[in-house]
Amino acid sequence: MPTTVILGGGIIGLSTAYYLAKLSPPSPRDKTPRVVLVDPSPDLFRGASSNAGGFLARDWFRDEVVGLGAMSFDMHRALAEENGKQGRRWGYTGGRGWCYTAAVQDEGGSKNRGIDWLFEGVSRAVAIADGASTEMKEEGKRLGGVSWVKRRQDEEGNGRDELALAADKRSIAQIDPGKFCEFLLEKVREMGVEVRVPGVAKGVTTSGGKVTGLWVESLGATELIGLDNMVVSAGVWTPKVFETLFPKGKGVDVGCLSGHSIVLDAEELDITTPTVRTASGNFKDENDAIFMVLEDGMSPEMFDRNHGTEVWLGGVNHNVQEAPIPQLPGKAETMKWAVDKLKDVAERMLKFKRNDGQRKELKVVRASLCFRPWMDRGWPVLGRVGGDVLGISGHDEKRNGNREGGGVFVATGHGPWGISMAPGTGLVMAEMVLGMKTSIDVSRLALGAEREERGLKSKL
Ligand SMILES: Cc1cc2nc3c(=O)[nH]c(=O)nc-3n(C[C@H](O)[C@H](O)[C@H](O)COP(=O)(O)OP(=O)(O)OC[C@H]3O[C@@H](n4cnc5c(N)ncnc54)[C@H](O)[C@@H]3O)c2cc1C
Repeated sequence: MPTTVILGGGIIGLSTAYYLAKLSPPSPRDKTPRVVLVDPSPDLFRGASSNAGGFLARDWFRDEVVGLGAMSFDMHRALAEENGKQGRRWGYTGGRGWCYTAAVQDEGGSKNRGIDWLFEGVSRAVAIADGASTEMKEEGKRLGGVSWVKRRQDEEGNGRDELALAADKRSIAQIDPGKFCEFLLEKVREMGVEVRVPGVAKGVTTSGGKVTGLWVESLGATELIGLDNMVVSAGVWTPKVFETLFPKGKGVDVGCLSGHSIVLDAEELDITTPTVRTASGNFKDENDAIFMVLEDGMSPEMFDRNHGTEVWLGGVNHNVQEAPIPQLPGKAETMKWAVDKLKDVAERMLKFKRNDGQRKELKVVRASLCFRPWMDRGWPVLGRVGGDVLGISGHDEKRNGNREGGGVFVATGHGPWGISMAPGTGLVMAEMVLGMKTSIDVSRLALGAEREERGLKSKL
């Protein structure tokens, strides 16, 4: 029975484990573990996958990932529906997306090209505002804005900040990604995936051009796990995994774009969007996502989550010089100035329930600094890697993973969209590993596919 080891238990590794287990349930006759998930973090819920905003979009993506984005969006909804009350546990709701533009802009403030979007061009606020239909704008006016978001007047006392509806639940949704990851971990355990956490991958064994085993140190013991396939989904730590396990190979280059975020208790806010009654009770059916362009050009994002009980706010981002990658996600320390900046945005933007002149204390439930894995080319890498990457001669790079084993795969580089694209990524990775036809064509996401495409074009 083929064994697959997954290195990295963020949302991408967990989704891959989930679909691998779903597509190949353990046989009652053969007890060999089919899927082993290895992650050195003692706590799997301290990284980007748990602390992200959890905003999902259906069609906000560049060409290369249009199919993956749409499929994942539909899969997120299906997962929440399939799991009924359980699904509500990770707060899946359809969403409304608003674009907030401060009436007064410092010079160069509008059309922000801040660090979060430096690789993509414009901020999400600008992108959705540009794409909003007249019908949507009219609906936004009818709704009269968002009850818990403050709009300010300019210095002359007129010209209120603009809050325009730009998207609805047909194309956007919201989850709590940490709770979604907890659900995935629980499910994969139930389905027989062996979870080695904390587990440190120390080295590989090879034979005849294939990777045949992985040395893993876990809870003081080191063991060799025989394997047929390996999936590396270690986010910004992916290059380090390749350096450690395949020191003679050229590895995989993954960049990093980190960001601070805070989660606020919504108790004092007037979050009153519709609730729906279902067999399992009443729950808030829609959330509001606010994409802002503030006076100074900063483009924070703010989402009400978990059926209106909390607000997530992010938008202070850093390059790797400003915030170096820590040894593990849980070792990242927040910077006070960055958290204070987000608190200032919260004070500036949030409307509290009782307007009795008393300044309310902001209840910050959590502040975090997390690391988005990023590919220079601008879209994720999903696929099997070749012998040059591993430094293993005789490794057959064309074979797309099959039951003969030996395939090493990589799945990372989702940048600001890893939560949104996780289910589709997990499914296609599982399909590749099992040697099945993938549900959508992801050949453009293979490592180096863009170079091949450029080469072909230049020959035409
Ligand atoms: C502030 C912020 C807000 C975001 N908001 C959104 C959003 O609203 N919507 C959205 O779609 N995306 C969002 N993202 C992006 C999203 O969080 C990421 O794209 C996604 O979490 C990446 O998942 P991952 O599993 O690849 O990596 P990670 O979550 O980083 O997981 C990598 C795992 O690899 C493990 N690891 C480290 N070293 C090793 C090793 N040697 N061996 C094995 N494992 C190892 C780590 O411990 C970790 O568990 C946001 C990101 C940030 C930072």
